[in-house]
Amino acid sequence: MAYSRERDFLFCQFCGTMLCVPSIKYAECPLCKSRKNINDIRGKEISFKISAEDIRRELGINIIDEQKVQLSKVNKKCEKCGHDEASFYTRQMRSADEGQTTFYTCTRCGHQFQEN
Ligand SMILES: [Zn+2]
Ligand SMILES: [Zn+2]
Repeated sequence: MAYSRERDFLFCQFCGTMLCVPSIKYAECPLCKSRKNINDIRGKEISFKISAEDIRRELGINIIDEQKVQLSKVNKKCEKCGHDEASFYTRQMRSADEGQTTFYTCTRCGHQFQEN
């Protein structure tokens, strides 16, 4: 299988520079700023064999998973500024005895606090 040929999509069709993938939606040439839509690439040349994850590994860049980054918001009073909205995520501690800890970040002042 012509594996390397399938990677042509990682290079700019105009100037041959290796493309950056600043988002999961498109790849961009850092030199001439031409863009390729990731979905176009997937459909035509690689038929989803090379995913965004592969590109990330290949280029050593982080593609932010927009869904993971999006934090839930909750009505929680900030102990620092008194604002009553915070984003939060939970994390299970190593020991089951310690239970689950909820981490809050105030959406106004960015103060971080936690609650068991
Ligand atoms: Zn280019
Ligand atoms: Zn606050």
